[in-house]
Amino acid sequence: MPELPEVEVVRRGLESHVVGREVLDVEVSGARTARRQPGGPEEIVARLRGRAVSGARRRGKYLWLTLDGDETPGADCLFVHLGMSGQMLVTDHDAPPVPHLHARAVLDDGNDLRFVDQRTFGGWTVVPLAEAADGTGVLLPAPAVHVAADPFEPGFDAAAVARTIRRRDTELKRLLLDQRVVSGIGNIYADEALWRSGVHGRRRAGALTLAAVRGVLGHAREVMDDALRAGGTSFDALYVNVNGASGYFDRSLDAYGRAGLPCARCGTPVVREDFMNRGSHYCPVCQAPPRRRQPGRPARRQ
Ligand SMILES: [Zn+2]
Repeated sequence: MPELPEVEVVRRGLESHVVGREVLDVEVSGARTARRQPGGPEEIVARLRGRAVSGARRRGKYLWLTLDGDETPGADCLFVHLGMSGQMLVTDHDAPPVPHLHARAVLDDGNDLRFVDQRTFGGWTVVPLAEAADGTGVLLPAPAVHVAADPFEPGFDAAAVARTIRRRDTELKRLLLDQRVVSGIGNIYADEALWRSGVHGRRRAGALTLAAVRGVLGHAREVMDDALRAGGTSFDALYVNVNGASGYFDRSLDAYGRAGLPCARCGTPVVREDFMNRGSHYCPVCQAPPRRRQPGRPARRQ
């Protein structure tokens, strides 16, 4: 599943190569690609053909293209669901079709914007923009209005998010992954942020100090920023690409996927445990697992 830094790389590629172009024609061949559109492939074609792509926007891991310069509530946008393996490719219109090509927009500069998706969890939808549920006035694709701000947004209020997290009596990592609390932090970067912070993800959020929670949010932003700078330079100009492997970001990881390897800080082998149907990776020394509460004693704050 692509994480925020990879989606941002795609967004930047679309901004460079697709924004400003007009959509001359649209073909949607995969029924699954259009399954979120009530009117099916025909509706996507009808609502995209002849429109100008005016912006490439992202919140968290959500990506969309704005149309005709209209960013007001109710205006159409192309909401791109990358799913597990979706790719947005900019290629010459006459380039041969590639396997798993499910949709393409023919642009007015001789290129195609192609949607390629091997595992078909992704898709395109043309939906109206609507105001975010968080009251910030930010416009999002209507199906994504519940998605909270991500740590890179100018309007991201780290103190308010940390307070929200502390009010919830559940494990910290569960809240970091909750896109309605803070968006864009996936499993990989949650583990990395927790490792950098020296906090175990199963700690109860309400038992942590506000400073500790803010520290984790700050590290989440930092670790994704590092990944973006490491990976953001490696995409080919005409190959706006995202895939689920995230291979070129792996070299900067200290916890995720490093079970059994020494912790870069203290040398203790990193541990993997099951968490929310996925894996959590942590250093058992730098990130002490939560102790069981003693009966009758309040949880200690750290
Ligand atoms: Zn360690």
